[in-house]
Amino acid sequence: MPLRCLLCGLASGAAMVCRGCCEDLPWIVSGCSRCGAPLPPGVPPGPCAACDLALRGIDRVRAALVYEYPVDSLVAAAKFHGRVECARLLGELLARHLAGDGGDAPACDLVVPVPLHPDRLGRRGYNQAAVIAAPAALAAGAAVDQHAGKRRVNTPPQSGLAGSDRCVNVRAAFAVRRDLEELDVAIVDDVITTGHTVSALAVALRRAGARRVEAWCAARVVSAQPPR
Ligand SMILES: [Zn+2]
Ligand SMILES: [Zn+2]
Repeated sequence: MPLRCLLCGLASGAAMVCRGCCEDLPWIVSGCSRCGAPLPPGVPPGPCAACDLALRGIDRVRAALVYEYPVDSLVAAAKFHGRVECARLLGELLARHLAGDGGDAPACDLVVPVPLHPDRLGRRGYNQAAVIAAPAALAAGAAVDQHAGKRRVNTPPQSGLAGSDRCVNVRAAFAVRRDLEELDVAIVDDVITTGHTVSALAVALRRAGARRVEAWCAARVVSAQPPR
């Protein structure tokens, strides 16, 4: 059955967004090779000038889209309004970004979505990061283990906290339940803001033996300041 574009409502064939809306999305066409922030037009690939990736445990961030309209609406719909199809779309957009223009997706062995605490998972019914991770892992030819990471404490939502509180909030929030010796792992999350959440999980993954850890996200908050 032909679908309707999740953004404009027009017929979109077999795709979840129509071609026009897809082209208009705030894609990060060329991102910093470390922190994933968009590079200014004309700047050659590599680290950004202000790159200060202070995210412990993370080798590289890959972000598909800038967190602004309409991406912010998609994220809110996926997280707070039970619209799992919006999470699926974010996953497909991330997969498209990873695959690049006909290129290969970055290689990794295992994709680990940022886990939700069981209480929150119970209320929401699904983990949006796990939904986003599925197409991303497919693009990378990697397996997904949504039970590799476990949230030990039900931390309050990061979105309501100031930067320094976020760091304290997630420290030691994660446990890893399997041996990751010699594996290259990619963490998947919906949005990277300060990066403290993915960094805390990365530290736990490394303790379990992970060799290389990247963080892949559908959207990245871009501010004048690099992430800390
Ligand atoms: Zn559309
Ligand atoms: Zn950078």
